[in-house]
Amino acid sequence: MRERITEEIRSFVAGNPGNLLPDGSGPLFHEPLVGFASFADPLFLAYREIIGPFHLTPAEILAGEVGGGEGEGSVLCWVLPIAGGVRESNRGETLYPSRQWSWVRHHGEAFNGALRRHLAAWLTEQGHKTVIPQYSPLWRELGDSPVGVASTWSERHAAYAAGLGTFSLNDGLITEKGIAHRLGSVVTDLLLTPTPRTAPDHRSNCLYYRKPGACGVCIKRCPVGALTPDGHDKRICREHVYGTIPAAVASEYNVTATGCGLCQTAVPCEFRAP
Ligand code: SF4
Ligand code: SF4
Repeated sequence: MRERITEEIRSFVAGNPGNLLPDGSGPLFHEPLVGFASFADPLFLAYREIIGPFHLTPAEILAGEVGGGEGEGSVLCWVLPIAGGVRESNRGETLYPSRQWSWVRHHGEAFNGALRRHLAAWLTEQGHKTVIPQYSPLWRELGDSPVGVASTWSERHAAYAAGLGTFSLNDGLITEKGIAHRLGSVVTDLLLTPTPRTAPDHRSNCLYYRKPGACGVCIKRCPVGALTPDGHDKRICREHVYGTIPAAVASEYNVTATGCGLCQTAVPCEFRAP
């Protein structure tokens, strides 16, 4: 069943006219990576300590939306690697994202949402209770948690649990296809063998943590000083990403969400685990 699910995700992306930049100049995403985690993984309880007590387990999300007790199940996660042409377009930018990058943030996230809904419907048709955490009534954002802005479900932490990558200095997830991507997940009562986590530790794909002081290229890429050797200042980043950038270029690019991605392009981890 893991192979069938992986194939369903990959064929949705490969054969879909929605996976195109609005000007038709190329794809939004390359072939996805797919991973699986179990509800029983102790990491999901540990996230209550690491992220905050508000972070939900997959069992709570499933039970909260479809009813019943908190049973067994799996989290299905994917990585949509941003296409090479889009990444290249962002490499030379120094203040605002490129037009193509913003198209991926806006149209690409809509496509990612279509994939979430497609997969949930496909699994439901086969009799498996399935919920999309990102669109659950239980999903909410907290602006002032102990770890700054956070939400009741983290796609990044789910993907880490599913063995798809490790965390980075700039608060991303470095996968085998790099850090420039969009992530998605669904939770289901279907029991699947989890993908093993093979990384030596939770930050081992980031050069800065693997060899203290090495790299740090993303620090220099940030135009507003949100990145330092101490990590990522979410407040400064958000002001730029959700305030300054949209005000400057959203209407020119004809999008509402622009993203930024400067610290995810022209860096050693852009399209691979360095
Ligand atoms: S650019 Fe270097 S320090 Fe920054 S996230 Fe990538 S590997 Fe880590
Ligand atoms: S997304 Fe942009 S503003 Fe935020 S840390 Fe990266 S480069 Fe800086």
